[in-house]
Amino acid sequence: YQRLVLASRPRGEVQESDFRMETVAVPELRDGEVLVRNHYLSLDPYMRGRMSAAKSYAASQALDETMIGGTAGQVVASRHPRFVEGDFVAGMLGWAEMGVADGGQLRKVDTSQIPLSAYLGAVGMPGMTAWFGMNQILQAKAGETVCVSAASGAVGSAVGQLAKLRGCRAVGVAGGKEKCDYVVKELGFDACVDYKAGNLEADLAAAAPNGIDAIFENVGGAVFDAALARTNAFARVALCGLIAGYNGQELPIRNARLLLLNRITLRGFIVTEHMEFWPQGLAELGQLVAQGKLKYRETVAQGLASAPQAFKGLLQGHNFGKQLVKLI
Ligand code: NDP
Repeated sequence: YQRLVLASRPRGEVQESDFRMETVAVPELRDGEVLVRNHYLSLDPYMRGRMSAAKSYAASQALDETMIGGTAGQVVASRHPRFVEGDFVAGMLGWAEMGVADGGQLRKVDTSQIPLSAYLGAVGMPGMTAWFGMNQILQAKAGETVCVSAASGAVGSAVGQLAKLRGCRAVGVAGGKEKCDYVVKELGFDACVDYKAGNLEADLAAAAPNGIDAIFENVGGAVFDAALARTNAFARVALCGLIAGYNGQELPIRNARLLLLNRITLRGFIVTEHMEFWPQGLAELGQLVAQGKLKYRETVAQGLASAPQAFKGLLQGHNFGKQLVKLI
């Protein structure tokens, strides 16, 4: 089968040549192991951090090894008592058409009411990220205004919908009219500001007439600053991502004084460090998706060879909703 390995560490923007395609033999299974054919690979912003050698909350991706990545697929062969051929599973088999995992590292998923791909998005890690930030950090109350950046994306789209379900005013920030229209008309946010239109601060002031009580930050830089400028006293910030800086850009906070003046609580978090919440969160997200109360959108690239280009695009906002690669 085919796999993509990390060939070199990018400086600044990711290049397709940072990856290399290899053909590898299917290994023999040992006791407890499962062979999986991956149907979907998830592309996620955190992968940019893993490609770098800089110190972070997780170890760097090793060179010449299969790129890390979440996958959803079907069991081909199993030597683990919990799995049989044909089971649908989610796991971390990386940028590869197939792979072997310990059964303990795989999650069996039910595709009768929820499509397989959603287990990489709304009912997977990105959905859990929205759920954790909203329920464990922001804890926004009915009537409060929640502002979320990268609002049309995998995480942001869920954040705003969860905010609406809590009775909040949901305000998104996204790049371009098409994404903003989708966020308001399809996802039901109260407003969405196009940060590329050139009037970010004024547009956000109009979108949040009562100020902002909770910020779910995915971007950083000017987008974060504009939200800070509208905060009310005792606002909370769930600092989830800083994608505007993932290629090495500086992200100064010009409105830092408002952190003090508005007595703001800011908490950064990494969702995979809170696995104890996942069973509850995923169950709730799964119900919402099955009931049609949590909508999502996907951008699907075809074939493993398209993954490097699609990943580059993700860091430039070319995706619209959850970025996936369809492998078969
Ligand atoms: P998205 O589906 O939101 O895709 C990324 C989006 O970010 C792009 O579509 C683009 O949207 C926006 N973007 C990219 N570059 C910039 C830029 N320079 N300025 C402003 N916006 C930009 O990805 P995810 O939903 O998977 O992730 C969203 C954020 O959440 C990321 O920062 C990610 O790192 C973080 N995250 C954090 C986790 C945690 O545990 N802390 C877990 C999962 C995700 P647009 O066109 O609107 O600009």
